[in-house]
Amino acid sequence: MYTMKYAPVKNFINGAFIQADNSAFLDVISPVDGQQLSRVCLSAPSDLNKAVASAKVAFESWSKTPIKERVQVFYKYKSLLESNLKDLANLIVEENGKIYSEAAAEIEKAIELTEFACSLPQLITGELLEVSKGIECRTEFVPLGVVASIVPFNFPSMVPNWTIPNAIALGNCMVIKPSEKVPLSIGRIAELLKAAGLPDGVFNIVHGDSTIVEAICAHPDIEAISFVGSTKVARLVYQKATSNFKRCLALGGAKNHLLVLPDAIPAMTAQNITASMSGCAGQRCMAASAMLAVGPVDHIIEKLCDEAKKMVPGDNLGAVISKESKDRIEKYITDAENAGAKVLLDGRSVKVSGKENGTYVGPTIIDFVKPEMAVAKEEIFGPVISIIRTKTLDEALAIENASPYGNAAAVFTQNGGAARYVIEKASAGMVGVNVGVPVPREPFSFGGWNESRFGVGDITGKSSIHFWTKLKKTTVKWNPEAGINWMS
Ligand code: NAD
Repeated sequence: MYTMKYAPVKNFINGAFIQADNSAFLDVISPVDGQQLSRVCLSAPSDLNKAVASAKVAFESWSKTPIKERVQVFYKYKSLLESNLKDLANLIVEENGKIYSEAAAEIEKAIELTEFACSLPQLITGELLEVSKGIECRTEFVPLGVVASIVPFNFPSMVPNWTIPNAIALGNCMVIKPSEKVPLSIGRIAELLKAAGLPDGVFNIVHGDSTIVEAICAHPDIEAISFVGSTKVARLVYQKATSNFKRCLALGGAKNHLLVLPDAIPAMTAQNITASMSGCAGQRCMAASAMLAVGPVDHIIEKLCDEAKKMVPGDNLGAVISKESKDRIEKYITDAENAGAKVLLDGRSVKVSGKENGTYVGPTIIDFVKPEMAVAKEEIFGPVISIIRTKTLDEALAIENASPYGNAAAVFTQNGGAARYVIEKASAGMVGVNVGVPVPREPFSFGGWNESRFGVGDITGKSSIHFWTKLKKTTVKWNPEAGINWMS
């Protein structure tokens, strides 16, 4: 007989937590220490139908509520995020395994995202022009209806908040499908939205696995789907959603390259690369995964090893999500070593005292990796960086360009011309200069290129306005004396 820290996780439909129709469930295990936190229902399509039906009813009045009134909910939600920051962050630590400061940063980012949503009335004023004598054209952004958001495990609060405030402030009603690996934080988000005054049915949660994702893609009453997760699933979701004529934006995985030139400032470069590769235990779609060492940069690699050694599992380096994940990451390291690469810093077989059942991988630096090795090409999603040596900047850029992904790239140099060259040539949606995690902050939008994103536009910032709305164009003539012309 075991005890769980939290009650079994239920769906949230029409403003209430309710039992799923399905009795199937999955255990929720903390990566920190292997403790069972809860269990989550694996809903059936009938549960999704209930959520969509409640969202459809709520849409009737929510979409007709003026946006300046709708955002009042998000002003309150923002202040609730602020006053509950500690509790929310602690819950993220438990279910995801990241360290407290990283979890708190997630909530800070959620606050910034909400702040942006509060500014939407200022941003979505339409246009109006007298296009011929007495005739006016005007545009307005109209909400879509019921929309869905499908999210991954690595940011239990930030990624849901990429979509919730903007989509809902713009007048849509939402059904969210959280990751079954981290189903707890989203329940707190639902509670805070309700406490902020969001009407019942505007926001709904349906827990589950691929069955619910497939049902979302096929549901006739869902107008648009945003997805964030691996490229394999992003591609599937995009194909299914669009084949059912739904609007879809599907963000996928990544393999981010950092180009290091010999003139880079060693200490700053080493600190930035360490933070990028090991932050959130490397489980970020913006994490540094491959370092392209251009020319003689051994002095920087030496500093990088010194810096990375300061990352201590269970202390300032969190856990990876599961035992399967830990095994997969360690296999990449072993395979690279067997193929002739040199492991400069080895994070395999780490045990954290007092947290022996936690799933930790230490910081790992692998040198002399060849571009054709799996560790150089595939997304690792762990605190591992592969160093690939190149003679020239063009050789490094060719490796970066050959990656099917395209989320982020960064260059470390003091040479403005070289930096400009990389900005121009890198095949990535987000580029950093001396910045290891080049995440744009609001109002700038977030989104990669290539196989890191399927669909048009970005998921946050101003770009998201176009994803969550449709444009109505109206042409008006009030006065008959305006006459008739060629376009009448
Ligand atoms: P995942 O693709 O396994 O899961 C994402 C969501 O899809 C989850 O809700 C999951 O339940 C569902 N899902 C999983 N398998 C499915 C299937 N076969 N059919 C339908 N639905 C399925 O991703 P993850 O492991 O939760 O998250 C890590 C991945 O997300 C990494 O690849 C990371 O790079 C990516 N990610 C990308 C971004 C970005 O902005 N591009 C941001 C965060 C995470």
